[in-house]
Amino acid sequence: MAARVRLYLFDTTLRDGAQTNGVDFTLIDKLAIIRMLDELGIDYIEGGYPGANPTDTQLFSEPRMLHTTFTAFGMVRRPGRSTSNDVGLGALLDAKAAAICFVAKSWDYHVRVALETTLDENLASIRDSVRAAKAKGREVLLDCEHFFDGYKANPAYALACALAAYEEGASWVVLCDTNGGTLPHEVEAIVAEVVKRIPGDHVGIHAHNDTDQAVANSFAAVRAGARQIQGTLNGLGERCGNANLVSIIPTLKLKPEYAEKFEIGVSDEKLKKLAYVSHALDERLNRSPNRHAPYVGESAFATKAGIHASAIMKDPATYEHVEPEAVGNRRKLLISDQGGRSNVLAELERIGLKVDKNDQRVARLLDEVKAREAIGYAYETADASFELLARRMLGTVPKFFDVSYFDVKVEQRGQDGQGKNESVHEVLTTAVVKVKVGDETLISAAEGNGPVNALDVALRKDLGKYQKFIEGLKLTDYRVRILNSGTEAVTRVLIESEDETGDHWTTVGVSPNIIDASFQALMDSIVYKLVKAGAPA
Ligand SMILES: [Zn+2]
Repeated sequence: MAARVRLYLFDTTLRDGAQTNGVDFTLIDKLAIIRMLDELGIDYIEGGYPGANPTDTQLFSEPRMLHTTFTAFGMVRRPGRSTSNDVGLGALLDAKAAAICFVAKSWDYHVRVALETTLDENLASIRDSVRAAKAKGREVLLDCEHFFDGYKANPAYALACALAAYEEGASWVVLCDTNGGTLPHEVEAIVAEVVKRIPGDHVGIHAHNDTDQAVANSFAAVRAGARQIQGTLNGLGERCGNANLVSIIPTLKLKPEYAEKFEIGVSDEKLKKLAYVSHALDERLNRSPNRHAPYVGESAFATKAGIHASAIMKDPATYEHVEPEAVGNRRKLLISDQGGRSNVLAELERIGLKVDKNDQRVARLLDEVKAREAIGYAYETADASFELLARRMLGTVPKFFDVSYFDVKVEQRGQDGQGKNESVHEVLTTAVVKVKVGDETLISAAEGNGPVNALDVALRKDLGKYQKFIEGLKLTDYRVRILNSGTEAVTRVLIESEDETGDHWTTVGVSPNIIDASFQALMDSIVYKLVKAGAPA
């Protein structure tokens, strides 16, 4: 077999994806998503637009130790300015990022009407900006905005914009279907023309999904010679979204037409984490995962019982286009739990618990997980809670401490109309926790900026001989979701924690009462840390 050609993946979830209606990433969100994408094996991660908002400015204010090429996004210098006299460009050049992805207009009509400048000045702006970034030692990419519409209107000019960047040393010229209206055969024909002038291993595609063909357009570009695909996780993006990397990656890895020709940075092993990555992003955004998402959706490999199911039992290939396990999904058959069982076994192996696959306790654990997931627990996301549940059922979690009592008080102290400002009121929250560690009983009280915070502070104030093990424990994120299961609403709380070694984990609690749900998740986080630190029983 001939050597495979390297194809590069560029993720813009944090920049284009951040334009999605209802999506608002915090710095914590961005860092967590970057970590996930980096581990997956994405070649370029576009973090955002330094200088455009405080989150992105902060994100690029310090170097991030990553395998990926961390990329900052921004505009080429404004017309009529020099590169040294453009504040936006300055922020971009100062960003702690290995690469800069510039965006520039490549449609003559836009240059004249939106930018109100001459075609030549736009080309000069592209050249100057690429040169300035190269001089700063950055790898440079150029997003050619509205490239396909621009090419249809004035092919020579659209191409001149791309060439200006390429000739100045940009490693990638990315052809953007900015308003998402271009069709696959048009993309294929236009990219084929571009690669006659710029080698395909310097050409990328950035497709929007306005005709539901962004994934197809990305593949059309690759067929024509482009060697970089830009997209987002779960197809996030403004309007109808961007090309969905979660669909593109498995197609590249599992479909022989692409798998035999191309190689990407995502290993077979990492591909098995894809369903997790997709769902973890949804969880972070407080969205329900799309059950019908190709490859990773809960229904993607669910076949109704009956003749199909029995045929699948005999030979899965009869009804499935790829193996669900390859992307970390599972086959769902109403008549069999084999998929769930092998999933649990795989998880146990991952966390280093050696169990015989016929051990009765595995079946019990699976039943327990299913029963708990039915009432709202989310073990796929809450890896640490799953590990504790598994360790408990296999009998290996010491009883470190017991919370015998807790009390949380929220008081509002108004001004009863006597103060000057009647609308001013104060809310005070206090928590008291009684903990038994061995023969010792410890009582701690704390104030907090809310009930959960007060409870957390009180709980972690004094754990006696275990205190030293949790000193480096930090809660980095707290997410609440109200689930409507049948008649009553329950609350699911997910807590993300971090410790001094930089490890991250997620725990879950479910209850009709938000404080109780939070308490469960807090307890799991502390116990997980104690187990992890090897604290003595
Ligand atoms: Zn875009």
